[in-house]
Amino acid sequence: MRERIVVIGGGLAGSEAAWRLANEGFKVVLYEMRPKKMTPAHKTDKLAELVCSNTLGNVEITTGAGLLKAEMSMLGSLVIEAAKEARIPAGSALGVDRNIFAQYITEKIESHPNIEVVREEVKKIPEDEIVIVATGPLTSEELTKHIRELVGYDTLYFYDAISPIVEAESVDFSKGFWGSRYGKGRDDYFNCVLTEEEYRKFYEELLKAEKVEPKDFEKAVYFEGCLPIEEMARRGYQTLLFGPMKPVGLIDPRTGKQPFAVVQLRKENKEGTLLSLVGFQTKLTYPEQKRVFRLIPALRNAVFVRLGSIHRNTFIQSNRVLTPFLNMRKKENVFFAGQITGVEGYVASAATGILAGINAGRLSRGEPLIVPPEETMLGSLVRYITTKEGELQPMNPVFGLLPPPGKKVRDKKRRKELMAERALAKMEEWIRENRLA
Ligand SMILES: Cc1cc2nc3c(=O)[nH]c(=O)nc-3n(C[C@H](O)[C@H](O)[C@H](O)COP(=O)(O)OP(=O)(O)OC[C@H]3O[C@@H](n4cnc5c(N)ncnc54)[C@H](O)[C@@H]3O)c2cc1C
Repeated sequence: MRERIVVIGGGLAGSEAAWRLANEGFKVVLYEMRPKKMTPAHKTDKLAELVCSNTLGNVEITTGAGLLKAEMSMLGSLVIEAAKEARIPAGSALGVDRNIFAQYITEKIESHPNIEVVREEVKKIPEDEIVIVATGPLTSEELTKHIRELVGYDTLYFYDAISPIVEAESVDFSKGFWGSRYGKGRDDYFNCVLTEEEYRKFYEELLKAEKVEPKDFEKAVYFEGCLPIEEMARRGYQTLLFGPMKPVGLIDPRTGKQPFAVVQLRKENKEGTLLSLVGFQTKLTYPEQKRVFRLIPALRNAVFVRLGSIHRNTFIQSNRVLTPFLNMRKKENVFFAGQITGVEGYVASAATGILAGINAGRLSRGEPLIVPPEETMLGSLVRYITTKEGELQPMNPVFGLLPPPGKKVRDKKRRKELMAERALAKMEEWIRENRLA
């Protein structure tokens, strides 16, 4: 029997990590606080409970979630195995019966001879053991305090404030100009210009748009500095013009004048293929976001790869705290996995659990730590959360994170097919080289 490894949190990520390690022969102690202590969203005592939607996203490999699932399958994912067992018809999405899904994982984990499940809340991360922290967006209060001390006060966030991201290709760059406020910095921003009439229409539709009701435990979310744009709009016609849509310090080189209002787009990755709407965190429903944001002339045909949201969400600034192998830069024995690392959603959370499991095992054996190539969805997502410059807000698996294909391919669908084929080939090679199968 190998060294014992501790996993904290029996959600999607913790279950994957425990499964991986136990199958490699490690003795795993998996701590899960439910049912003794519940989170505000979980309802059962099952491991890997899906707290909201019962789908694990698209299955097509030409979508980010579909490609990531295909890679996870190659890595022996328990979550994907359970999803196949529990599958229900849901078009091109992987819909599951949530009870069968969680029951399958719970039975597999609880009956594994190398896993001991301890139903206790962990309040402090053990000092001298290899540990994987996978306590999710609703990590218990006491452990959150301890993690905050460990990673640094300004690197643990309690809420996400996600602005939408669009594909750069879909932006009409004739409807604005590149430039930073007061000419500071280089052309870091694209300023989408609105006339007074366009602003008024946008403002009126924003006020009318349908919003997602916050859950009870999220009601106290709004603090100045990350107000949803519709809340700012509710405070008055001018508020946005002094906030995220303020034009001061920006002169449109095409007219030599300051525009009436702007929406700034900022590069989200080094290739500049993804652009985020600066300061546009919102609680509008997804269809309403698309409808209202497309009233911004430069975004009339925008393709949104991520839509905005604001949630209660405990997550760390992994770009300042973690290595791409998912352990702490300062404490190599402490790994993080799941939504607490700043990935978003069931599938991405589970996928990071597999990687943390692989690397915790390698650390224990004294082997070098590894990360999948950047051409894979898992590799590119993990690199994004651990190397992004500036503030990290949660990210889901999207094609825009992958390097473009070597040759120019005009047809979008074909380009995605080529990138997906390349990702799967790279993942296969990586698995073979590192004997992970
Ligand atoms: C209200 C809500 C709705 C969501 N809806 C969706 C959705 O529809 N689709 C989607 O893809 N994602 C959704 N998410 C995000 C979703 O939670 C994550 O994608 C996913 O569950 C994260 O997996 P995880 O393993 O990181 O955390 P979780 O699955 O939350 O697992 C963490 C586990 O750690 C346990 N735990 C916490 N603290 C301690 C402690 N101190 N000691 C021991 N155990 C502890 C918890 O009980 C929990 O079982 C939602 C999140 C919330 C909060």
